[in-house]
Amino acid sequence: MATEPKAKNIGGDSRIKAGLIWMNGQMVPQEEAKVSVLTHALHYGTSVFEGIRAYDTPKGPAIFRLPEHVERLFHSAKVLMMEIPFTPQEISQAIQQVVRENGYKSCYIRPLAWMGAHTLGVNPLPNNPAEVMVAAWEWGTYLGDEAVRKGARLITSSWARFPANVMPGKAKIGGNYVNSALARIEAQQQGADEALLLDKEGFVAEGSGENIFFFKGNTLYAIEHSVNLMGITRDSVIAIARDLGYEVRECRATRDQLYMADEVFMVGTAAEITPVSYLDHRAIGKGVAGEHTMRLRRAYLEAVQGQNLKYEAWLSYVN
Ligand SMILES: *Cc1c(COP(=O)(O)O)cnc(C)c1O
Repeated sequence: MATEPKAKNIGGDSRIKAGLIWMNGQMVPQEEAKVSVLTHALHYGTSVFEGIRAYDTPKGPAIFRLPEHVERLFHSAKVLMMEIPFTPQEISQAIQQVVRENGYKSCYIRPLAWMGAHTLGVNPLPNNPAEVMVAAWEWGTYLGDEAVRKGARLITSSWARFPANVMPGKAKIGGNYVNSALARIEAQQQGADEALLLDKEGFVAEGSGENIFFFKGNTLYAIEHSVNLMGITRDSVIAIARDLGYEVRECRATRDQLYMADEVFMVGTAAEITPVSYLDHRAIGKGVAGEHTMRLRRAYLEAVQGQNLKYEAWLSYVN
């Protein structure tokens, strides 16, 4: 049996360098993009956000699945009954502008809308208009290059993914991410790269910010949506896998099913496709990055980098 290598600490301590930030309609230097300490969202987590990537393609930088991300931002706002004082088109243009004016070839983009500093009653309505910003910075592999090469080590978190009547898990709402942060901190304390969260019945939910897949032979299993965020990467990976000839099934799974899988991997805009080599100190397959997983990863990177024109409809070129 393979022995489990020791994980090194993940995440850096260097500050994000985001250059020019679009804030409420204007481009401002990062140092000037500030909010009040009495911001409602800072106290209660009443914000909505997106995580988007732009990639360097042969036709210049392109934003991956921009309309889907902007639509989800507005859907998240709707769940919170937050009115974003810009149209989806204006937000899309702001995102393009941030990539263009910072001169990025590739970057991670973070649009954020939050309840401002007009009231600190828990109910932000009706007098707390939302504020909006879009920042972007250069960000490599989310879990580190080593996690991609060797596979990430996961532990099952003692924090469960919240049930659908506790938090709206299909929305990227700031407050939801206390659950993710707790799981992620726990994983790091235990020397793991990332946490797997189960739902309240004990079935596999998702990572702190990634959807989960596994292979049994040539069949790819996608963990069904249930309480999870409906990832845009998950959707892209299912399409690409079918195009590569894999049979794809959506299922509910238990953690021991993952222990017995041939390959397990996580997907998300930040994590892209990251293989999982260990779960709860058990080797998945041979305890290395899986073959099919890496094939999918290559195909995914080709798609996002504009090297497979079959997927060009997913790209919004920055011009
Ligand atoms: C953002 C996120 C994902 C991944 O979604 P993508 O659309 O693929 O980026 C998965 N799970 C959670 C909890 C998330 O917040």
